[in-house]
Amino acid sequence: MPKYIFVTGGVVSSLGKGIASASIGALLQARGYKVRIRKLDPYLNIDPGTMSPHQHGEVFVTDDGAETDLDLGHYERFLGVPPHKTDSISGGKIYFNVLTKERHGDYLGATVQSIPHITDEIKAFIASDITDEDFIICEIGGTVGDIEGLIFLEAIRQFANDVGRENALFIHLTLLPYIKTAGELKTKPSQHSVKTLLEAGIQADILMCRSSIPMTDSERKKLALFCNLVPEDVIVALDLDNIYKIPLSYHKEGLDVRVLHHFGMLEEAKEPDLSRWHEITKIMSEWEKEVTIGIVGKYCGLQDAYKSLNEALFHAGLANHSKVKLKWVDSETLEDKNPEEVAGILSGLDGILVPGGFGYRGVEGKIVAARYAREHKIPYLGICLDMQVAAIEVVRNVLGVKEANSTEFVKDCTPLIALMHEWEKDGSLQTRQEGADMGGTLRLGAYPCVLTKDTLAWSIYGQDRIAERHRHRYEMDIAYEHDLAAKGIVISGKSPDGILPEIIEVKDHPFFIGVQFHPEFKSQPFAAHPLFSAFVKASLG
Ligand code: GLN
Repeated sequence: MPKYIFVTGGVVSSLGKGIASASIGALLQARGYKVRIRKLDPYLNIDPGTMSPHQHGEVFVTDDGAETDLDLGHYERFLGVPPHKTDSISGGKIYFNVLTKERHGDYLGATVQSIPHITDEIKAFIASDITDEDFIICEIGGTVGDIEGLIFLEAIRQFANDVGRENALFIHLTLLPYIKTAGELKTKPSQHSVKTLLEAGIQADILMCRSSIPMTDSERKKLALFCNLVPEDVIVALDLDNIYKIPLSYHKEGLDVRVLHHFGMLEEAKEPDLSRWHEITKIMSEWEKEVTIGIVGKYCGLQDAYKSLNEALFHAGLANHSKVKLKWVDSETLEDKNPEEVAGILSGLDGILVPGGFGYRGVEGKIVAARYAREHKIPYLGICLDMQVAAIEVVRNVLGVKEANSTEFVKDCTPLIALMHEWEKDGSLQTRQEGADMGGTLRLGAYPCVLTKDTLAWSIYGQDRIAERHRHRYEMDIAYEHDLAAKGIVISGKSPDGILPEIIEVKDHPFFIGVQFHPEFKSQPFAAHPLFSAFVKASLG
C-alpha cells in the first residue's frame, strides 16, 4: 500500500499549495520513490473547462483529455510524470457521480447522504487507479474553513483512519505575516488555522509556514507549542524568486526528512539525488544572454492565465542559458493602428508569441501581430487559436481572400476555420453538434501528428510522428494547402489521415510557426519543449 500525504492550506488562498505539493513530491522522487500527485477541488463546477482564465487561471490538459486545474501542470513539470484523468476531481464531479448513481438505483433504496455517500465517493477517488506508487500526495483545494471544503476534510479524516494513521500524513500550509512596525512574524493566524483543521478532526502532522523571512527559534517553538507539534515539524516555506528553487529550500529546512520520519522510513531511505535541481539553479543564477519575447494576448492582467506558457518559455531559457524577459501586449491595442503605430508597439521584441484563446475579442489585433512578425521576419510562435489566426492572416493578405475568417467569430465569412463535427480518436468516431454543451466537448488531449519531411517543424522535433495535447473546437480547412504552398506557406504537420492541419509555417523566415495544439503543457524544466527551445533560440538571433 502506498503512503498518503494530504496537503491542506489555511489563513489565505494563493499560498502555493500546488507548488508545495509538487516540491514535496520532487524531494521524495529524488530519493528514488515513485510518486503520484492528485488534486481535489471542492468547487461545484464539474471541471475547470468552462471557467474563465481571469477567475481560475489556465485550464491544464492531460494526455488522456482531462481539463484540470493548473496545479496539475506544476506536478507534471516538477515530477516529469504525466498526470491522468484520475488525478483531478472537483466537488461538482463528486456530487454528479453520486447523483448519477442515485438515478441509476445503485444505492438500493438508501437515503443518499453527505456521509457516507459523498465521503465514500471522495475516498474511492483517492484510492483509485494506483499501481506501484510509494507515495500518493493529495492536495485539497481551497482554504480550511471554506464551507464546500468541509466534506473533503471529513473524507480525508476518515481515509487516514481507514488506511491507518501510520500510512497517512497531514501537511498544513499557512502564512506567517510579517508586521513591519512590530518587526516580527505573526504566528496567530497559523495557530487559528491549525485549530480550524482540528475542528474537522485533523491534527496537522507537519506545519509549513510561508514567510518572507526566516523564522526564529522562538517563533518555531511557539508554533509547535500551540499547534501540538514538535519544533522539527514546523517548517518555514520561504518566499523565493523562482519556483524551481523551492525543492532545494524545503530540503534545507528538513522537510523530506520529517516526512520520512513520520512514516518510519528514514532509516531505510536513500540520500536524495538533487543534482538536476542544483544544475538549473546554477543556470538561472548566471544567465549568459537575454531575450525579450512579446506575448500578444488578451488575459494580460493575470499571469496565471498563461501559466504553462510562462513556464515553457522559462524552460526554453534554461535550455539556451538565456534569461527570457516577457513583455505583455494586449492584442486589442493593435487594432485600428497604422503601420508606424504597430511598429511602435512591437519593435524591440526579439520574438512574438501568441498564446491561443476563445472568442473574437482581440483577434483582429492578433492578425496585425502575425502580419508584422511575418513581414518583418520576427520569430513567431502561434498556439492553437493563433495557428488559426496566422492562417487567416496569410489567406487574407497573401492569397487575397479578404473575407477569410473563423466561423467561431463570423458565421457568414469565407470559412477558413470551421467547427469540426466528426473526427477520430483512438479508432472511434467522435461527433459534435452545433449548440452542444460547452463543458468537455472540445477536441481534448493527445492526438498524433505526422510531420512533413524537410520542414522547420520536422527538423525541430527530429522525428516523423509526434503526439501533442489539444483543446479546441475549430479546425483549419486543408483546402488552402496548395495555394498556400505556392506562396511558401507550408502545412508541416497533419493528422495521420491527412485531413486536419496541425502545424503551418512560413518558409524563407527565421521562425514562423503556428501549431493547432498546446506544446506548453508538455514542457519541463529538465526537458524544455523543442518548439519553445527553438523559438527562443531563433529569437536570440
Ligand atoms: N477558439 C479556438 C477553437 O476552439 C481555439 C482554442 C484555443 O486556443 N485553445 O478552436
